[in-house]
Order: sequence, then C-alpha cells, then structure tokens
Amino acid sequence: MGYKIDHIMSSKIEVIRICEHCKKQFTARTTRTRYCSPICNSRGYKALVRKGKVEKSNNETVQLLNTDLEKIKPLEFLKITQASLLFGISRSTIYRLVNNGHLDIAKFGKRTVIRRCDLEAFFAIPIQDVTLKTGQQFPGFDNCYTITQIQQKYNISSGALYLLIQRQGIVKYSVGKFTCVAKQDIDIIFNAVGR
Ligand SMILES: [Zn+2]
Repeated sequence: MGYKIDHIMSSKIEVIRICEHCKKQFTARTTRTRYCSPICNSRGYKALVRKGKVEKSNNETVQLLNTDLEKIKPLEFLKITQASLLFGISRSTIYRLVNNGHLDIAKFGKRTVIRRCDLEAFFAIPIQDVTLKTGQQFPGFDNCYTITQIQQKYNISSGALYLLIQRQGIVKYSVGKFTCVAKQDIDIIFNAVGR
C-alpha cells in the first residue's frame, strides 16, 4: 500500500517553483526551471548578468530550492510550510481546509504537522464524494470562475488546481480563450461545511 501510493505520487506531483524574476509560484517542467515564462527568463537573466551573479545564483539558489523539495518528499509528517511547498498550495489554503474539516493536523509538542498521506488522500477524493450534477450545462460566466480567478481566490498553483479538477471530475468549459468551471464545483471543495 505504502509503496503503491509513493509510486503514484512520485509520478503525479508536479514541480512547483518560485520564478526567480517575478517571484510568483508556477508549475515547472523540471526541477531546474528557474523562470515562469520566456519573458521572465530573458529579463531575469539580463539582470543577473548585470550584477555578475549568474554563477553564484546557479550554484546556490537553484540547488537550495531543489534540495528542499528532495528533503521533503520522503517525509511522513510535514510542517505546514513543507506541505505548502510539496503540494503547491498556500499555507492559508491548507489552514482553510483544516478549518473546514477536510484535513486533519497533528501536534508534536508545539509543532503543527500534517500527514502526507492525508494530503494525498484529499487530492485523490473520488468523484462520488463530491456533489456533482450529471449532465451539467454551461452555467454562464457569472456563475463560473476562470482558472486564474480560482488561483487568485484560493492561492493554489495551476499544477495543483488542474490535478484537483481532474481528480474530482469537475466539468471544465472552454469559452473563447478561457477555461471556466462552475463556481459551486470549486467552492464546495474549499468551503463546503459538514462533509
Ligand atoms: Zn516570472
């Protein structure tokens, strides 16, 4: 069982990194990606060249971030900050999930920890656990969030959000250049009480 979960998670977890230029969180293709976009890549690199810090940054900053993730991955109990880094969700979102009864936390003395398997289980909640109407029709823009709106409202990375939408079987609607999902489908995950 433990092996199976580890195996699934290691292949599913996306690399969440902080862009070295704009400092925003983004989903990276590899653990060595340093910028969220070609624009940030170009601007960030030029700035580093000006400061003559390319070598130093390569050796220290990147390694530090990678090492952190590698250290965290095998842990059974995670500090909130570690859970945030590993699953690409903000501390405040984790606390909201705890307050809503979706996640349990434990105390080791004064330290608050969260079990990694609880977080994995949350992201893998089967579809029947969520109130999802069958045969949904597009509820209209006013009743939808765009992906960006969800990320801003709930402080979740695009990688973690797409994983959640996929695992929960939430219906996505393509409208022009936007991908939308019904507000109630998202709100129920983060706000639903008594589930
Ligand atoms: Zn950036």
